[in-house]
Amino acid sequence: MNKTCAIVITMMGLAPISVAFSAPHWTHEEQAEWGAIEDTSQSAVPLMYPYAECTIGAHQSPVDLSNQSKAKTVNAPRFNYVRDATDFFNSGHAAQVNTSSDYKGGISIGADFYPLIQYHFHAPAEHVIGKTTYPGELHFVHIREDGRIAVVGVLLEEGDKPSRTVDLILRNTPTTQETHNTTSGITLNPASLLPKEWKNFYTYAGSLTTPPCSEGVSWYVLEKPLIVTPKQIHKLKSLYENNNRLPQNLNGRVVTGNH
Ligand SMILES: [Zn+2]
Repeated sequence: MNKTCAIVITMMGLAPISVAFSAPHWTHEEQAEWGAIEDTSQSAVPLMYPYAECTIGAHQSPVDLSNQSKAKTVNAPRFNYVRDATDFFNSGHAAQVNTSSDYKGGISIGADFYPLIQYHFHAPAEHVIGKTTYPGELHFVHIREDGRIAVVGVLLEEGDKPSRTVDLILRNTPTTQETHNTTSGITLNPASLLPKEWKNFYTYAGSLTTPPCSEGVSWYVLEKPLIVTPKQIHKLKSLYENNNRLPQNLNGRVVTGNH
């Protein structure tokens, strides 16, 4: 993993990998104030306000996807996920799985390949569709070496059939914050967390939904949800509940898609 990735990942609240960088603490409860959180080790603006973009950014995520423009031809993400050893990680903000540093899986959008770096859960969902808020949302975070980011969102819907992969993640994620479990011996293919149909999606230009809320993120939220059981949602919420950022103003952005 190169330095750019390491910096981005550290900023996203994960364990520092190779760069010493300590970001100020934040919580979902205080999300309205993220932009005002001060880094007391800094004395100059803007370094004092490392999460300013959360407040002043005009292209923030998540959003309400219901104001979708007419279908148009856009490149669909093509999934090239492969099986991987697991690093189950309690990030302090979500249940997460980090991929291996030499992981070859990712998505292709047009001619561009975006490697999968990690995936994690929110409960309830962050993206809403009109008045509908799903009970959970899974984010597949892809970061290129040049720093460009594409995130695929999969909404979670309650149904009869449990997701075996969700079960494995919930059972093996440490309950202690900022703790890894790399010794389970379990391998997973993240493709097993995609809904059966994933051809239709919403897409728009947004941001990370957690501090530092960096913009320039290409979002692809799949139209079909992944079915999980109420028990699985309950278990997910016992790890983290209300770790969702509320919908942000579109500010003239267009949500589009292929359907
Ligand atoms: Zn997320």
